Amino acid sequence: MTSRSDRPDPEPAVRLTAHVEAARLPAGLYLVATPIGAARDITLRALDVLNSADLLAAEDTRVLRHLMDIHGIPLRGRRILAYHDHNGDRARPALLAALADGGSVAYCSDAGTPLVADPGYRLALDAALAGARVHALPGPSAALAALSLSGLPSDRFLFLGFPPPTKAARQIWLRQWLAVDTTLILFESPRRVNRTLDDLCEIDPNRLTVVARELTKKFEEVIRGTAAELQADPRMEALKGEVVMVIDRPGVQEVDQDRLRQVLAAHLATMSIKDAAREAAQELGLPKREVYQLALELAGQK
Ligand code: SAM
Repeated sequence: MTSRSDRPDPEPAVRLTAHVEAARLPAGLYLVATPIGAARDITLRALDVLNSADLLAAEDTRVLRHLMDIHGIPLRGRRILAYHDHNGDRARPALLAALADGGSVAYCSDAGTPLVADPGYRLALDAALAGARVHALPGPSAALAALSLSGLPSDRFLFLGFPPPTKAARQIWLRQWLAVDTTLILFESPRRVNRTLDDLCEIDPNRLTVVARELTKKFEEVIRGTAAELQADPRMEALKGEVVMVIDRPGVQEVDQDRLRQVLAAHLATMSIKDAAREAAQELGLPKREVYQLALELAGQK
């Protein structure tokens, strides 16, 4: 008898090789998202566009070449132009000229979605200003992958990119964003996660924080806890690979309660409970629902 694991994999119901035939692509700039780890995290449309575009451009030409090899997409004599932070001003005119000639240009950054803490912004802007169609091909992004698995509220979030390198600037930066009533997503080098956790602890050691490492890769790891718990976690000492940090929004218990009561009382003297709660929440960067509960108490309606 053949056991289940002995059986060969069944033929896939749909063949995924439609991209092998190159079709004529309408003119325009195609911003193509690429995998952040697992090579098969790429859309069929991305493969079609990489197969059909007249001109290819990439942050690192070898990285795109490798991705195309993995997916069996031939170059067919097409060139891949390098377009990155250090040559953008020099490289853009050739790409804009190809668009002006009615060509299709596909652009990929090294991993994830171009323009998200990656090159491509000026290219997309200039292409649009020159009257070219700009198409986004959505796909992987480390920021959204980390948010999805963080377990933190995802109805409202703010992507902050990388923190500033110097301590003074980072403290001001963190303090400002930590006051906003939203989940925060930031990119960080594995060597600097400790440093950012130290700063976070100086401001709010109880803030729930998630360190998401090597997403979609073999050593994917998600570490959750308060900022203080993560700061004390020995795994932070020798983090390797790529990291996204996701930070919870502030809770009412984290603000100065006397100040909150003072602000609420002042607003309650001149407005309805609902309006007073909304104003105070906005002023102090707090969740409206929790401030409203306190406003009800102060107004003696609870
Ligand atoms: N544009 C990319 C995107 O949409 O994902 C981000 C590019 S940014 C230059 C690179 C940073 O993204 C890394 O330093 C890391 O913070 C994060 N990152 C990229 N891939 C990741 C992965 N597989 N796991 C965790 N973080 C990742």
